[in-house]
Amino acid sequence: MGSDATAPQTDTVDAVLCTLRAHLPAQRPLPLHEPSFAGNEWALVKDCLDSGWVSSVGAYVDRLEKDLADYTGIGHAVATVNGTAALHTCLMLAGVQAGDEVLLPALTFVGTANPVAAMGAIPHFVDSETESLGIDPVALAGHLDDIADRRADGCYNRRTGRPIRALVVVHILGHVADISALAELAARYRIELIEDAAEALGSWRDARHAGSWARLSALSFNGNKIITTGGGGAVLTDDPALAQRARHLTTTAKLPHPWAFEHDEVGYNYRMPNLNAALGVAQLQRLPELLADKRRLAEDYARAFKAIAGAELHGEPIDCRSNHWLNLILLDRPADRDRLLQQAADEGMLLRPFWTPLDRLPMYRNCPAMPLPVANDLFARGVCLPSSAQLATSGAWS
Ligand SMILES: *Cc1c(COP(=O)(O)O)cnc(C)c1O
Repeated sequence: MGSDATAPQTDTVDAVLCTLRAHLPAQRPLPLHEPSFAGNEWALVKDCLDSGWVSSVGAYVDRLEKDLADYTGIGHAVATVNGTAALHTCLMLAGVQAGDEVLLPALTFVGTANPVAAMGAIPHFVDSETESLGIDPVALAGHLDDIADRRADGCYNRRTGRPIRALVVVHILGHVADISALAELAARYRIELIEDAAEALGSWRDARHAGSWARLSALSFNGNKIITTGGGGAVLTDDPALAQRARHLTTTAKLPHPWAFEHDEVGYNYRMPNLNAALGVAQLQRLPELLADKRRLAEDYARAFKAIAGAELHGEPIDCRSNHWLNLILLDRPADRDRLLQQAADEGMLLRPFWTPLDRLPMYRNCPAMPLPVANDLFARGVCLPSSAQLATSGAWS
């Protein structure tokens, strides 16, 4: 790409910056994603403080869990201290053991892989597809065809001899991956499917909410996610027994008793405090409004970027109703990426590249991986744009 004869007349980096300056508010620094607290947040947090119940037991935790189950249509939600803890809990409940391999995309936030490694299991990196930005089911099927051995007791990696216990599908930037195909593949190989839906609250595919294909899935309510509890997350499951186990493992596996400290396995202090849940209840009430603003911002960006040569706004995948958590442009020329990021940073606009593919990070360099041409290409050309919901109304869009 990019011989002089075919190069665009205007410099793509200048054109992108010009468009952003023209449409986004003058606020500097302009963050990538900012929370908004324009509803009952203050009132419910104050009520929680007034009640004295701020810690990991309390009415707001119960209410947030019920509201999440109602909204997603998934039977049970168990609120946790963050999304990483939720994912760790999913992996434990899925039976992942030290020495197992867990398939997950190379192109994801490091929080997908870290709980796998913390358990002594081994991330096994797989490639992405451009439409949804999630795992490519066709490429993964080819890879499993090459390396996987189906035995009576599950799936094994023929090259390493290790069990392949789980497949963690991530819904990247709020787009639901090609999840039915991936669920079918996991079932065919008898690999446990887990959904990392940390970025995908409010995202749907075929009228099902993200996280409703796997037995276990994880949400995050970190400060940069579509709704926030400060820090927080949740395990979602339709299975009441798994929900019960999730509650147990996230409350130090303590047996109910009026006064004795009895614990029947290694558990964790992973439950969400009531104070955070109060914020979460108020944020979840505003989710429809936030989703409408996010959709409008994505449409505004699409219009604004239509005329720019050398940069394309990544669109919503077919069959998917995305929460449009972060807007992404793909540059034609990788050489434009760092120039754009640097110039934007110099003037206080916080654009971001994709996460560095995890197979390049020092602690994951020696993990098994399939060829990753699409993940590498998306990383080389992708730039995330400021995407706070309030930009839909504070910018100069027309
Ligand atoms: C945010 C995020 C996590 C981790 O959630 P935390 O609440 O920050 O621990 C995991 N996976 C993905 C894809 C994320 O975006």
